[in-house]
Amino acid sequence: MEDIYLDKNENPFNIPEKIRKEFIKYIKEANFNRYPEKGLPELLNKLAGLTGFSSENLIAANGSDELLDMLIEHADGDIIISSPTFEMYSFYARNYGHRAIDIPLRPDFSINADEILKHKEAKLIVICSPNNPTGNLIDRSSMEKILDSGIATLLDNAYYEFSGEDYTDLLAKYKNLIILRTFSKAYSLAGMRIGYGIGNVEFISELRKLQAPFYMNILSAKIAEIMVDNYGLIGENIKYIVKERDRVYNEIKEMAYPSSANFLLLKKDLYAYMEERGIHIRKLPLLKDKSRITIGTEKENNRVIDAIKEYVKK
Ligand code: PMP
Repeated sequence: MEDIYLDKNENPFNIPEKIRKEFIKYIKEANFNRYPEKGLPELLNKLAGLTGFSSENLIAANGSDELLDMLIEHADGDIIISSPTFEMYSFYARNYGHRAIDIPLRPDFSINADEILKHKEAKLIVICSPNNPTGNLIDRSSMEKILDSGIATLLDNAYYEFSGEDYTDLLAKYKNLIILRTFSKAYSLAGMRIGYGIGNVEFISELRKLQAPFYMNILSAKIAEIMVDNYGLIGENIKYIVKERDRVYNEIKEMAYPSSANFLLLKKDLYAYMEERGIHIRKLPLLKDKSRITIGTEKENNRVIDAIKEYVKK
């Protein structure tokens, strides 16, 4: 049996054929000798259409990773994270010599706003919702409590499309908030490295000052634009993944936590067990007794369900 890769929260589907065709047509005619248009206004316009925000509220970059990197580099002091969470936050903090103060999630994976707010000296609070690797959403009332502090707050919303929870209304009230999203998950474009941020005009314009005028290559920008124009095509894939996530969860409930993303946190470290069966999942350095599995195609998920049921039976 072929190996299956469910370790990086990627989309199991490649891009729709129509999008590939339009992209190839563009490549045939593209002026590779020219720099991209300064600031990539067309990409920002498309993102404006997608999000309902004005292009002044938007910043695009090479993956949301690059925006995380910029925000953490320029935080100018301590950042707060809530583990277990996406490891790149503390990676960037370390790179720039900032302290990452960890206020762990509670045992039910809820965020501990009161503890976070004791750290008035913090320069940036990082919240991940749905959180990777736990899969849960962070509740709005805690989020608002944190935002009321006035400290710059980054909401990493990479799995937004699978969650049904939109936090962008908070931007009207909170000028200290920036929401990051990505084309790597729901849009099947992990290989093209496209992410974007939504925030208040002042926050975004400060961030843009740190960015080079030709910040992204023309191919990534173009494929993102084509994707936005064809949003309906990826909507079907998102629905499929959400349905499969809920199906897999219901089948292996005793071994997994509920999730609002495209992956499940498993209650045991099944890395070696699954590896033996050709199913590659994610080992978790911060949660050694657990592991994380991405939702794949129906066929892949059936293999996962069978393997986990067999594990439970033993
Ligand atoms: N944030 C979270 C929570 C993630 O899980 C990931 C990808 N694993 C990213 C950001 C990075 O996404 P991108 O591909 O846009 O850099």
